Amino acid sequence: MFGEGDPHSPLVLVGEGPGDQEDASGRPFVGRAGKLLDQAIVDAGLTRETVYITNTVKCRAADWSTGKPQNRPPTELESETCRQWLIPQLQSISPHVILCIGAPSAKNLIKKNFVITKERGKFFPSEHARTIMAALHPAYILRQMNISGDGGYSLLVDDIAKAWDAAIRLREKHMPTL
Ligand code: URA
Repeated sequence: MFGEGDPHSPLVLVGEGPGDQEDASGRPFVGRAGKLLDQAIVDAGLTRETVYITNTVKCRAADWSTGKPQNRPPTELESETCRQWLIPQLQSISPHVILCIGAPSAKNLIKKNFVITKERGKFFPSEHARTIMAALHPAYILRQMNISGDGGYSLLVDDIAKAWDAAIRLREKHMPTL
């Protein structure tokens, strides 16, 4: 599963990895978490077509211990191994801003000891974009929604809007004058 969206977008969203539905369809974020991400993108004033969406790992990480594959977070080694595809992908898109969706993406692209609940919504330096930020993963938000309130959904919307705003400002600043 590679990615989709506008390869000329100033903003790239990097998720964790494909689940069963993404693996079957070859498209990122098409399951339940994907629907919530789509809603957050719209609530942030954008559409899915205005950004580029991809994942840290390119194949489904699954636990086979029960005999039936169950989605699981990628290991550090799997994330590390998939950098050989992710990094050239980011280099060829060359976005102004990268928004990591969830902790594995932030740990892979920002810093190993990234703490998503404390450090989301903050800009960090990046080798692969002018700046990089992280947001809560929609799957985490869905789990939190069962416990209390909006589960952090409004934070996801705010972070997408903030990342887009920075991407547009950076694009304007670096636009060649005609
Ligand atoms: N979760 C992700 O991080 N990526 C997807 O593509 C789907 C679910």
